Amino acid sequence: MVGGGQGAYIGNIHRLASRLDGQWQLVAGAFDVDPQRGRDFAIAQGLDAARSYGSYQDLIAGEAGRDDRVDAVAICTPNFTHYPIAKALIEAGFDVICEKPLTATLEDAVALEKLARESGRFVGVTYTYSGYPMVHEARVRVARGELGAVRTVQVEYPLEWMSTAIEQSGNAQAAWRTDPKKNGRGGSIGDIGTHAYHLAGFVTGLKLESLTADLATFVGGRALDDNAHVMMRYQGGARGLLWSSQVAIGNSNGVRLRVFGEKGSLQWFQEQPNELVFTPLDGRVQTIKRGADDLSEDAKARTRTPPGHPEGYLEAFANLYAGFAEAIRARQEGREPGPLGQNVPLAYDGLKGVAFVEAVVDSHEASDQPWITPVAV
Ligand code: NAD
Repeated sequence: MVGGGQGAYIGNIHRLASRLDGQWQLVAGAFDVDPQRGRDFAIAQGLDAARSYGSYQDLIAGEAGRDDRVDAVAICTPNFTHYPIAKALIEAGFDVICEKPLTATLEDAVALEKLARESGRFVGVTYTYSGYPMVHEARVRVARGELGAVRTVQVEYPLEWMSTAIEQSGNAQAAWRTDPKKNGRGGSIGDIGTHAYHLAGFVTGLKLESLTADLATFVGGRALDDNAHVMMRYQGGARGLLWSSQVAIGNSNGVRLRVFGEKGSLQWFQEQPNELVFTPLDGRVQTIKRGADDLSEDAKARTRTPPGHPEGYLEAFANLYAGFAEAIRARQEGREPGPLGQNVPLAYDGLKGVAFVEAVVDSHEASDQPWITPVAV
């Protein structure tokens, strides 16, 4: 692992989730931007001192010479570092599991996706919400045609944690997320809008044709958007509406997806992840529960506990890790991956997310964006 050291947000989730199925072992790390703190953290995690590195460059040099070198490296650092770290790892022959957004700039995302493709290295991207069994169930049901043609998609990712200027009072996570050089051009839209955009496309299979966006920065002194509304036109005519917000008081992690087709609709809410609500035209509202016998093989493959015993965030993240392990093994063995290794987010999905952010900010900044005041206001 690179990043995810003492006090970091997502690194420990990776460590917990990767261990859940016994497919991965954490054996080496450069966990911190501060070399000594990184080495101390590694030793405290129980790693061999020889594999407790001070920097990702040292990790690459140290691991490259070992017979038991690491199979893959998870990158859990701020956005602007993803590209240089991933590039160096891929060029040294390592597979990579990278946090989202794939990179901080479109130029870097294009280059990284190309490098992944041409090198043949595995690059998985941790779009967490595509790990949930009921999200897979939704994807299968849309693909089977249970909703008919999709007409409209509503997806939202509201959070409350940046409702005040916490970046100015020492919050490490907020500090780099509000710095355009470290985060990229899109504030809320880059940090969480990318999750929502991926989730909507993952479930519906729809491909974006064009968008128009309105960004806002509500907290004074903040350099990036903390609220975004995006209207989307998908190929084939479906429409979408995406909302990301870091200032939506009352929302801890309110990811919500609603898909409306010509024959029915589906709704999924990440704070109740074991349920999917399906409403057929002229039918009753149905709550489909995780663990039921008649769910798709895709959902079953990602289910661990019996019905009524809740699963959640860690299991969804673990499904990504199990999927990455299966995809890497299948590649090594020259076979098609089993169900878990299919539909895992890859470098191209990461590139699509960064391209989406770029288009959203471009749209917002475009001087000819139409805003029309009604005659009566
Ligand atoms: P953070 O600031 O909490 O932690 C970053 C860690 O990286 C720190 O330990 C820091 O010392 C280390 N670091 C920085 N530069 C480094 C370098 N060059 N070498 C080694 N270590 C370095 O950040 P975070 O909130 O955990 O976010 C990290 C990444 O994870 C971001 O890209 C973010 O968008 C993503 N993230 C994803 C999810 C998800 O749901 N998938 C959730 C949160 C964050």
